[in-house]
Amino acid sequence: MMTKLDEKLEPTLDAVIRRNAGEPEFHQAVREVLESLGRVIAKNPQYADDALIERICEPERQIIFRVPWVDDQGRVQVNRGFRVQFNSALGPYKGGMRFHPSVNIGIVKFLGFEQTFKNALTGLPIGGGKGGADFNPKGRSDAEVMRFCQSFMTEMARHIGVYTDVPAGDIGVGAREIGFLFGQYKRLTNRYEAGALTGKGLLYGGLRARTEATGYGATYFVQRMLQTRGRDFEGMHCVVSGSGNVAIYTIEKILSFGGAVVACSDSSGYVVDENGIDLALLKEIKEVRRQRISEYANLRGKGARFITGGSIWDVPCDVAMPSATQNELSGKDAVTLIKNGVIAVGEGANMPSTPEAIDAFQSADILFAPSKAANAGGVATSALEMQQNASRDSWSFEKTETRLAQIMHNIHDHCAETAEEYGVPGDYVMGANIAGFIRVAEAMHAFGVI
Ligand code: NDP
Repeated sequence: MMTKLDEKLEPTLDAVIRRNAGEPEFHQAVREVLESLGRVIAKNPQYADDALIERICEPERQIIFRVPWVDDQGRVQVNRGFRVQFNSALGPYKGGMRFHPSVNIGIVKFLGFEQTFKNALTGLPIGGGKGGADFNPKGRSDAEVMRFCQSFMTEMARHIGVYTDVPAGDIGVGAREIGFLFGQYKRLTNRYEAGALTGKGLLYGGLRARTEATGYGATYFVQRMLQTRGRDFEGMHCVVSGSGNVAIYTIEKILSFGGAVVACSDSSGYVVDENGIDLALLKEIKEVRRQRISEYANLRGKGARFITGGSIWDVPCDVAMPSATQNELSGKDAVTLIKNGVIAVGEGANMPSTPEAIDAFQSADILFAPSKAANAGGVATSALEMQQNASRDSWSFEKTETRLAQIMHNIHDHCAETAEEYGVPGDYVMGANIAGFIRVAEAMHAFGVI
């Protein structure tokens, strides 16, 4: 990969790699941000004073804990829980929890680092954090998931709170898990502190449109990006990877904008549907029955096929929205997409494109929306859920969606204007990194050395 790191920042990256050995995703996330900062410190040398950049790369606090629980056979299971409280310059730590066997401290740190800048981009008063566990909810009964969540929260409760740290969902953590976690938090604290967790059910402080917000928000961002080239989603063929929360509501919004989605996936493979994905069937399989994506092809019949092996990015499309997980779209996939005529890529998942893929898209002048800008609608709406809870109100779906659309348009325009100002017009990666960094750096500068 072409190196774009300013030599003044090389020692910072070296120190991050040394201090966080064996955490490649965290190194990747830090490198990408540092590569954007050369132009910033040339213009504003004060940001390099007092080891400010080094401090931004070091989490404020990292918590690792044991999560023991009893399975349905009466056996004791042990998992590892994490919460990384990365940066609280702009507000309480805020970010989701991931339950997936691949979770380790490096993954949580990369997500917390990204979250810090993403949250800054929303313009709302939230710092950055992330957490989770190496627990695999797949194949577990509701009772097992409940016991796991209760044990997880028994430890985590002492570290969170409405003014301290406000967790939410992520991979493997949806409405069911948030319900169990919030119930246990309420029981332990003896307080109905609704704003201490977001993504809650509507009956107990949840916000209408929060479930839809990340996918809808990413689609609003890409729509605005397409408009800069006089295009929109109408008639576009789209591929959306994943079939979880982000993917489903990305598909829903693309359809409402007049686009067609021809493929989606899960970790077992992908489905191609020549007639366009049937959203109601997809929701039934994934949200209600919790089945594998192969079941979609079985039930949909003619025109739909399930494919294992190969890559979903082999499916030709105009717009690609990777919405499953990190590094799911390689340099090779990017070359295939470009060859097949892709015009825009919007990252719904966190860091789904490898650095090689991003280079390929940008070199080919493909519109590219990086995750920390494109998927910020989820956390922005979580901050709105905190507002709703603080005012003991109940907002309408329309009110939240209107705010979400406005926030996504503002983030888009702020990234585009920042890229322009720093001499890289159209580079949303640089725009997002610089714009997010400046907000965090300004606040940290004001606090002095802490
Ligand atoms: P879900 O758990 O609802 O869905 C995840 C989807 O991605 C599933 O289809 C899952 O398939 C697939 N997936 C997960 N891990 C892998 C893997 N290693 N390889 C292939 N496929 C995989 O999670 P979300 O939709 O909430 O999250 C998706 C992405 O969006 C993540 O990167 C997350 O960090 C990011 N994000 C989520 C936000 C939110 O509000 N939910 C906010 C901002 C970002 P399977 O079921 O087979 O595992």
